[in-house]
Amino acid sequence: MQGLMMDMPLTITMIMRHAEQVFGQREIVSVTRDNPRHRYTYREAFARARRLANVLAGWQLAKGERIGTLAWNDYRHLETYYASACSGLVCHTINPRLFPEQLVYIINHAEDRYIFLDPDFLPLVEKLAPECPGVKGWVVLTDAAHMPESGPENLLCYENLLADASEQYDWPQLDEQDACALCYTSGTTGNPKGVLYSHRSTMLHAYATMMPDAMGLSSRDVVLPIVPMFHVNAWGNPYSCPMAGAKIVFPGNRMGDGETLCALINEEQVTKSAGVPTVWLALQAWLRKSSGSVPSLGQIIVGGAACPLSIAEEFDRHGVETRVGWGMTEMSPLGSVNASFAERDSYSDAEFARLRLKAGRPIFGVEMKIVDDHGESLPWDGEAYGSLKVRGPWIASQYFRQEPGDAHAEPGWFETGDVATIDTDGYMAITDRTKDVIKSGGEWISSIELENLATSHPKVAEAAVIGREHPKWSERPLLIVVREADAPELDADTMLAWFRGKVADWWIPDAVEFVEEIPHGATGKINKLALREQFADYSFAG
Ligand code: AMP
Repeated sequence: MQGLMMDMPLTITMIMRHAEQVFGQREIVSVTRDNPRHRYTYREAFARARRLANVLAGWQLAKGERIGTLAWNDYRHLETYYASACSGLVCHTINPRLFPEQLVYIINHAEDRYIFLDPDFLPLVEKLAPECPGVKGWVVLTDAAHMPESGPENLLCYENLLADASEQYDWPQLDEQDACALCYTSGTTGNPKGVLYSHRSTMLHAYATMMPDAMGLSSRDVVLPIVPMFHVNAWGNPYSCPMAGAKIVFPGNRMGDGETLCALINEEQVTKSAGVPTVWLALQAWLRKSSGSVPSLGQIIVGGAACPLSIAEEFDRHGVETRVGWGMTEMSPLGSVNASFAERDSYSDAEFARLRLKAGRPIFGVEMKIVDDHGESLPWDGEAYGSLKVRGPWIASQYFRQEPGDAHAEPGWFETGDVATIDTDGYMAITDRTKDVIKSGGEWISSIELENLATSHPKVAEAAVIGREHPKWSERPLLIVVREADAPELDADTMLAWFRGKVADWWIPDAVEFVEEIPHGATGKINKLALREQFADYSFAG
């Protein structure tokens, strides 16, 4: 017997309607090239989204066609998200930090019909346009006064298009399984792979991220999404904030600038924020330099890469709760959040320092397991580590325009490519990417744990650990360190002594190399492939 409840498709159009009707006066504040502090309301935002929907309708695209964006976090990008997806098109967010050849591949593979770009990316687009014949027009996200004088053929002005369009538009009733957004994830090898989100998956993910032990969003919050809208939909904030009625503060192209972030937090009274470790390092450096504070900020999520202990401890001193989040493009992205701060008093300092850096508990809706090389499930004892697999309604079932591959080899599960432990309380900890794990004498050493320890040294600005060939142990860890600017004296012996007593002796790296800079990929993570190439000829004996 079936239940007798209404079958209402879960679409993001529902989110837009809700925010417009219920939180119409809540503000959206943005930093843009043409306005250092633009502000308007949800009501105005979605009225403009209707204008944009009319513009899109005039282009006569078929349902499901892709609109690309090369844009920062701001209100025009938000309007593009909703106008395209809610009118039946797909918003394809493109990461401008990828290599031009990857961008050309992505745009052509996705068959983007129009691309909306921030003026900052015009030089980039001038290079890409000749290679992307399927793109019919390039829309610059600015007004007439700030339009560039030249550019690729069919360069259009966003504000002019909107000014000429009607505000009346009836959003179509969509199927909840219709695609709404597309984001490519760039592995270190092979072509980027497209993850195609549905209205339903996006809506359920946004719901889940609002939960108290996830991002914990409410209508009293002011949220600063520093994580880019071009990388996994800014972790769902453009959907969860309107759902909750939270005020949004978009940092535009200033997301890596500690001074602007600090000013935005204080002037807009930001309560919650989310970003990768690099942006928090930038904010903390500015706070130290300016003796600044961020009293309104209650909680931040650090995700996308392992969180160094130093970030969490420095935020403790500012009264900010640090939550580690883990996820992937294929997971919309949120999979787990560490909200252990609520249990701080039950642990000794050392125990808590270990616990708080774990990737956290799966959020409701995400199921996990860790498996050995034969696919057998491993116990949740905090010790056994294996390949992490996940399943849930906001996890990709396959990649866009690709047959299911190795990641989907086990039906119903997605292999994350991460190696993890899970403890009896359900806290998952990432120990490595499968391909980064260091195998010494047949045993695994976690590069992430060693990196966390290295960066907790006060004179270390950044650190990475890679495995290098060893005649006896097959592989041994090599530590690569960027010293703090004021610590040229930091040497290898001091560095290695730092590990003693903190990890098993056989985990301690065999050698240290000091470098000026560690290479990063397009999403700000350490590029271990590039590091392995840089140290390809490294020999421990030498
Ligand atoms: P992306 O799809 O580009 O967001 O990358 C996802 C990958 O980032 C994951 O599979 C992890 O390897 C890594 N990652 C994300 N969050 C964390 C975290 N909290 N700790 C360690 N690695 C993380």
